[in-house]
Amino acid sequence: MEITVARYAGFCPGVKRAIKIAEGVLDDASGKVYTLGPIIHNPQVVRELQERGLEILPDDLDELQDYYLGGCNVVIRSHGIPPKLTEFLLDRGVKVVDATCPTVKKAQRAAMRLVGEGYKLFIIGNADHPEVKAILGHINGEAVVIREPHELKEWWEERARRVRKVGVIAQTTVDLFMFRSLVDGLINEVPELIREVLEIKIINTLCRNTLARQTEALQLALSSDYVMVLGGRNSSNTEFLRKICETTGTPTTKIETAGELDVSLLEGVENLAILGGASTPKFIVEEVRRKILA
Ligand code: SF4
Repeated sequence: MEITVARYAGFCPGVKRAIKIAEGVLDDASGKVYTLGPIIHNPQVVRELQERGLEILPDDLDELQDYYLGGCNVVIRSHGIPPKLTEFLLDRGVKVVDATCPTVKKAQRAAMRLVGEGYKLFIIGNADHPEVKAILGHINGEAVVIREPHELKEWWEERARRVRKVGVIAQTTVDLFMFRSLVDGLINEVPELIREVLEIKIINTLCRNTLARQTEALQLALSSDYVMVLGGRNSSNTEFLRKICETTGTPTTKIETAGELDVSLLEGVENLAILGGASTPKFIVEEVRRKILA
């Protein structure tokens, strides 16, 4: 069997940076070191950092009220956090170390600019994802988060007042298909919008590393007869990779660790592609590759 490991399998620059920052704080800081929620969506890496002393707090303001945080360090993960949460931490005497990915910060700034300039903002993405929650926190929740074109239509029909300016950004890790179908949906699902809206401004906030990873995933899925996607169960970018590969019709399986690998699925496979999400460490990719070859 020929195995091709994707060039983009493994940590993205934002995850690498966040982990390096967290490791630096663990090495140098006095006092406890926390993150709000797991630093990345990969339990194996999180466990390693926990063994070095990193502790996880809830990422919800209400839940944090019960914790004594004086003198501790909080590393902000790559998804970012809402400003209210930062203020809360600083008020409690926490040393805040910001590891928000610069690409995510750009999306936050784009949202603030559009809302500040009076655009009705749509965010393409998942409202429950921490990155989207953080973006919403920067604009006092003044945006509509959409995942499906029909949600645009529903919002449009229920809206309270006229809309003259529409702004669009996306969660940095959504896939290109979703981005395109939602942007198309603005016109195709809501043709009335063209009669009413004078200006539509789309800011491309998609992460270039994610786009390259997705493009490579599509190419590999088309040229392989089986795809193995590796990544954390709650990693949305890994899930997007799985969906992209499935659209090609090539059998695709997503697993988190080598322990979950069912080698019998690969019987008769001649060309296997192994992909990894932005928070999948290289060692897991290597373990899976070795187990297949064993
Ligand atoms: S996937 Fe892109 S936006 Fe997200 S942390 Fe990585 S580099 Fe940053």
